[in-house]
Amino acid sequence: MSQEHERILRRIDSYRDEMVEALKDIIRIPAISPDYGGEGEKRKADRIKKIVESWGFDSIEEINAPDDRAEGKVRPNLLLSYGKQERKVWIISHMDVVPPGDLAKWSITSPFEPIVKEGKIYGRGSEDNGQSLISSLFAAKALIDERIDLKRSIGIILVSDEETGSKYGLDYVLKTRPDLIKPSDLVLVPDGGIGDGSFIEVAEKSILWLKFIIEGKQVHASLPDKGFNAHRVGASLASNLDRILSNTYTMEDKLFEPPRSTFELTMARSSSDSPNIIPGRYEFVLDARVLPNYRLDDVMEKINTYVKFIGDMFEANINGEKYPKIRIEVLQRSDAPQPTSPESDVVKILRSAIKLVRGIDTRVGGIGGGTVAALLRKRGIPAAVWSTIDETAHQPNEYAKIDNLVSDSKVFSLLPIL
Ligand SMILES: [Zn+2]
Repeated sequence: MSQEHERILRRIDSYRDEMVEALKDIIRIPAISPDYGGEGEKRKADRIKKIVESWGFDSIEEINAPDDRAEGKVRPNLLLSYGKQERKVWIISHMDVVPPGDLAKWSITSPFEPIVKEGKIYGRGSEDNGQSLISSLFAAKALIDERIDLKRSIGIILVSDEETGSKYGLDYVLKTRPDLIKPSDLVLVPDGGIGDGSFIEVAEKSILWLKFIIEGKQVHASLPDKGFNAHRVGASLASNLDRILSNTYTMEDKLFEPPRSTFELTMARSSSDSPNIIPGRYEFVLDARVLPNYRLDDVMEKINTYVKFIGDMFEANINGEKYPKIRIEVLQRSDAPQPTSPESDVVKILRSAIKLVRGIDTRVGGIGGGTVAALLRKRGIPAAVWSTIDETAHQPNEYAKIDNLVSDSKVFSLLPIL
């Protein structure tokens, strides 16, 4: 490690208490999406601007997506940059948090009253995504304070609306400023990872959530011929789809864990609320995570064909009505972009930064999906997802480890200079 590197890392150590206070500060401001009935991110963005205004960034910009439902009628996105170099390192975190869920399960503290206990900061949004947000800001502060010569400029983007689709967040930023991030830039999305920091995510599977709704005719169970049992059709459809999809999409890719496409039956509900009532309606949900080598259109076609087959097989006419009626509702669909190459600069530089700071080797791979990195990969911009977290996001008693807050900031600070 060079002397310059050591200076930077020492500088970040000296921020430790300030970083903890800053993270607690932003946890106190909820920033929940109006989609969840929340207030939006305006107050949090204003608070962050206040924290960093005197630090010496070259520019602090706000890209506001209009949203009448939110406080201030906008969903703010903050853009902070430092350095004169053409090529940039971008670190993208999000300001919004998910709702606290069942308050009774928050046994350590209330969601928006952060406390420090045994080296951890507890509160909603502490890990997701407050830790990385604060780490990225203080990484830039260290570069500014130490007047380090950069190889690449540093750009920090703090987006809104990550938890509910990014329409007012990164998607809005990329649409209104299409030239902001260039394919030659390095992009890190520190919004995923594992407890020892040894995993870098570069790829994701496509996601398809389908709800199957089968309509029959409710009737007393002692007289089944007078009705039509929706559960029978649903159970048969579900178990056969389960088998057929797993047997059709068998390709494996070692980048992913597990290495194959997965098709999991999750929720199921029957309209019957009594042992002796044949249900007139049955629903189940399929969660499919498909390797990027397959097209979701093909998967959908396969499913539609099979739904038709089952429908024909069970077809019956009850009092002039044809049953079953089967509908498919798409709850979520996200077609995976091409993975970021494990040989791309962002991955290579990130790996050496992690090695320098943590002394560990990293594994590069894919996950089941869903960060804003996909929006960048779709535009041909290589993006890596990495942070060091215990994966407590979206849970009660969510926390961030202070050691990770500081140590990840050190990794971020090396990206513009390695
Ligand atoms: Zn997140």
